[in-house]
Amino acid sequence: QDNIEATPTDNNIKIFLRIKPTKKASGFFTWEEDHNAMEYNIPKDVASGLINNSRTNYKFKFDGLIGMTAKQEEVFDRIGRPCVENALAGFNSTIFAYGQTGSGKTFSITGGAERYEDRGIIPRSLSLIFEKIKKHPECQISAFISYLEIYNNQGYDLLNEDHQNTKAIEDLPKVSMLEDEDGNCHLRNLSMHRVATEEDALNLLFLGDTNRAVSETSMNLESSRSHCIFTVSIESRKAGSEVILRSKLHMVDLAGSERAHKTGAKGKVLKEAAYINTSLHYLEMVIVALHEKNSKGRTHIPYRNSMMTSVLRDRFTVMVATASAEKEQTDESLSTCRFAQRVA
Ligand code: ADP
Ligand code: MG
Repeated sequence: QDNIEATPTDNNIKIFLRIKPTKKASGFFTWEEDHNAMEYNIPKDVASGLINNSRTNYKFKFDGLIGMTAKQEEVFDRIGRPCVENALAGFNSTIFAYGQTGSGKTFSITGGAERYEDRGIIPRSLSLIFEKIKKHPECQISAFISYLEIYNNQGYDLLNEDHQNTKAIEDLPKVSMLEDEDGNCHLRNLSMHRVATEEDALNLLFLGDTNRAVSETSMNLESSRSHCIFTVSIESRKAGSEVILRSKLHMVDLAGSERAHKTGAKGKVLKEAAYINTSLHYLEMVIVALHEKNSKGRTHIPYRNSMMTSVLRDRFTVMVATASAEKEQTDESLSTCRFAQRVA
């Protein structure tokens, strides 16, 4: 397990459902962790009030199910660790969090700020990467960090030096996408920062999150309406070898999925909803295609449709769909299960 020359995990996609802990669980569903399955039995009167979800019984199956009592460490072992090991072995990997606002996407990807044990997938991945760098000096591993926010299909650099002093998001340099002759995507105006220690990397994560919070208040944005992609680029070379292995590990906190299918929004919110709707739809198309690549040998994956999917092309992918067990959230939780189920 500790060998950075591990064989690649096949180009694959795995989908987990994580249920957010609550004291007010509706009791509308039961789950079997051993079978990664969950069953909804919704009382008739509740079901009839749901939008798009009027059935009373549903059965869902996922690649993995993470129950309410799971610790962040376990979530990392099941979701983060395999992706980090892939990335260290030279293969691109992506971890997504998908779900309605408040269901635990940021908690899963970045973690809670209060307790050390609540650290999420990003800080734990950084720890693991620097642990391997120390253990394998012969591999000359270098790590670089970038942090991209995508709002209305426009990219912004969360590590841009001017970010803190900028009044309007429109004044920030836009990150644009360039494609070279080989079809590889490059991002212009997205800074990459070489990091020598875990602490340097954590400082950049913190800086990016602070900038995100600043733009949220000063620019009247809501982080729940943008996608954030934290990327660790890894380069390694074995002593005596000419070959340089390059890979990227993307950790993605997606925009809240709830606006994607709610009606009644107007103006700015409607515009945002349309962008989120479209980009989550394109993401779904990519995920479906990745499944078919495995099951039916499909070769074309529609990465080019949006900035988010282009950035993520050709990756080993794990998605953690986050859902709440509360009665009031039944509609959204069902929609999340459906999304995760459809693509699983
Ligand atoms: P999202 O990013 O999907 O909008 P958050 O991750 O911010 O949601 O979660 C909303 C709140 O619930 C936060 O206060 C977070 O700390 C808490 N929370 C989410 N998931 C968990 C969990 N698995 N265990 C404990 N607290 C959680
Ligand atoms: Mg969040």
